Amino acid sequence: MRDPFRLDGKRALVTGANTGIGQAIAIGLAQAGAHVIAAGRSSCDETVAMMGGGEALMLELADPAAAAAVVAEHKTLDILVNNAGIIRREDSVDYSEADWDDVMDVNLKAVFMLSQSFAKSAMARGAGGRIVNIASLLSFQGGIRVPAYTATKHGVAGLTKALANEWARNGINVNAVAPGYIATNNTTALREDPKRSAEILSRIPAGRWGDPADIAGAVTFLCGAASGYVTGAVLNVDGGWLAR
Ligand code: NAP
Repeated sequence: MRDPFRLDGKRALVTGANTGIGQAIAIGLAQAGAHVIAAGRSSCDETVAMMGGGEALMLELADPAAAAAVVAEHKTLDILVNNAGIIRREDSVDYSEADWDDVMDVNLKAVFMLSQSFAKSAMARGAGGRIVNIASLLSFQGGIRVPAYTATKHGVAGLTKALANEWARNGINVNAVAPGYIATNNTTALREDPKRSAEILSRIPAGRWGDPADIAGAVTFLCGAASGYVTGAVLNVDGGWLAR
């Protein structure tokens, strides 16, 4: 019997795969047997080397429509992981329109447009597929000084459910993983602030920051047969943060 956690023969595209959580996801999917297209605005050559195969793709998400057109050229994808995201910190009273727009475009508009492009192609082929979006604790909580990030991550959770409802009948499962505090570039500022860092660590029941590989395992599960009846879910991978 085929291992329901394996992804052999599947083709996956992961955005923001040059570093951090995206790189770990790409490696995790490759270890499960998928052919992974590691996509990024920065070179993903290191990720391809770490995967020992697959391919790299330059993909700039600041122009979501152009990025969706690039994804549309990859007509035989089985899996799309919308991982790339940015965070801009500023007091809300001073938050600039430019920062708001930049965060909206990468974190939410690109997620929608890439998902739409992926689904169009899958439906045209009569194939199903898997979309996994990377949400956040700030899909549930407000955060501090990150209004655009919080709005987009709440949006990612809602969009995940909206697309899951529409596309389930086409065999396209749409889920999200909500990482807790993971040690990546995204959280460097928090980890370098001794007070914030201690506050965060003391509240995590698991007693440690998350590792990008912690997220890769959950995403891999959501891409395989083992999760065939899971759609519209937002899976928290947070060391217990939200349970507390
Ligand atoms: P990261 O190390 O900063 O990685 C972010 C990725 O997104 C990088 O590959 C980055 O590329 C890419 N990216 C940013 N803007 C882009 C653009 N315009 N076009 C294409 N790619 C772009 O952060 P991370 O922690 O791995 O974050 C990955 C995802 O997890 C994000 O959606 C983030 O919101 C989410 N998340 C992270 C945490 C955490 O604790 N770390 C918690 C919750 C959710 P460059 O390297 O070229 O900038």
